[in-house]
Amino acid sequence: MLGNVRTGILGGTFDPIHIAHLHAGETALFAADLDRVLFLPAGDPWQKGARELTPAAERLEMTRLAVEEADGFEVDDREIDRHGPTYTIDTLLTFPSGEELFLILGADAALGLPTWHRWEEVIERAGIVVVPRPGTDPAAVAATVPQATILEMSALDISSTSIRELAASGRPYRFLVPSEVHRFIESKGIYTQM
Ligand code: ATP
Ligand code: MG
Repeated sequence: MLGNVRTGILGGTFDPIHIAHLHAGETALFAADLDRVLFLPAGDPWQKGARELTPAAERLEMTRLAVEEADGFEVDDREIDRHGPTYTIDTLLTFPSGEELFLILGADAALGLPTWHRWEEVIERAGIVVVPRPGTDPAAVAATVPQATILEMSALDISSTSIRELAASGRPYRFLVPSEVHRFIESKGIYTQM
């Protein structure tokens, strides 16, 4: 290939992956002229947080089901088996130095960037591409992370949290996730008890 590969990285817990993640990935693919977007599910948490995540293997499988068929999208499992704390900088440093990297973040996640471990190195290694997220003022992102490129995207007021709640209470969420993901959640009863 001539020139450097331009790779977008969209990380998340993906519990479950939903259409706003996918639309954000495609928006960045197009607007930042990327060659590919990698979806990176986070590994299982090393400390018990407020809520236990769905096991990494199932979150990875849902991500595969959502992304597999889409041109320009790939699943990357390099964070899945990492034990102990996962730092974005460590993930970025596993890529070949000739590859141009772009972190794709929702506005809520972007606001936290200056608190990340070795964040100055993060923004040195990767471009920061931000998509709008309802509830976060894009002007606050521009002020907090001036290096970020803020993309235009229709705001989608969807979260994995709200999908888990809908599924657990038997309310509709079918069209908020790809149909294969919906089928997988229902067949395994993943969010039946919370
Ligand atoms: P949860 O409710 O469990 O936190 P989530 O929907 O926020 O789930 P994450 O896996 O936490 O999803 O997010 C992964 C990335 O996708 C983050 O950068 C987040 O900001 C972004 N993202 C998630 N939902 C949206 C959305 N509706 N619009 C824009 N960005 C989003
Ligand atoms: Mg979130």
